[in-house]
Amino acid sequence: MVTPMTHPERDQQQAVLRGTFGKCPNCGEGRMFRGYLQVVPECASCGEKLGLYRAADGPAFFTMTIVLLLLIPVIWIGWTIFPDDPLMLMLSLCAVTTIITLVLLRLVKGAFVAFLWANEERDRGA
Ligand SMILES: [Zn+2]
Repeated sequence: MVTPMTHPERDQQQAVLRGTFGKCPNCGEGRMFRGYLQVVPECASCGEKLGLYRAADGPAFFTMTIVLLLLIPVIWIGWTIFPDDPLMLMLSLCAVTTIITLVLLRLVKGAFVAFLWANEERDRGA
């Protein structure tokens, strides 16, 4: 038998949207990150304990998958721009890949932590 939840239902879609943009999934006002990727222990606006939701390696795996899919058109475009210059192609692909990864990692981590929050997947200290 499933035990009833003792908390009000959390809007998963809204939480993930807020988290993607680095906002607290609970109130949408406070910031989720301190610095680039460090999640704040609790929201400065509503006091929600965001530090309890540990994303671990999840955002990195999702980011790698998305970047690898995005690389297909990027390689094709690079190939058409630099057809006779493999060094420039490689250097530009390295730069584009790095930029895409760094931008996506923060967005994905925000969404991931917000998803964990929406589903109450706290760190159980395993
Ligand atoms: Zn908040």
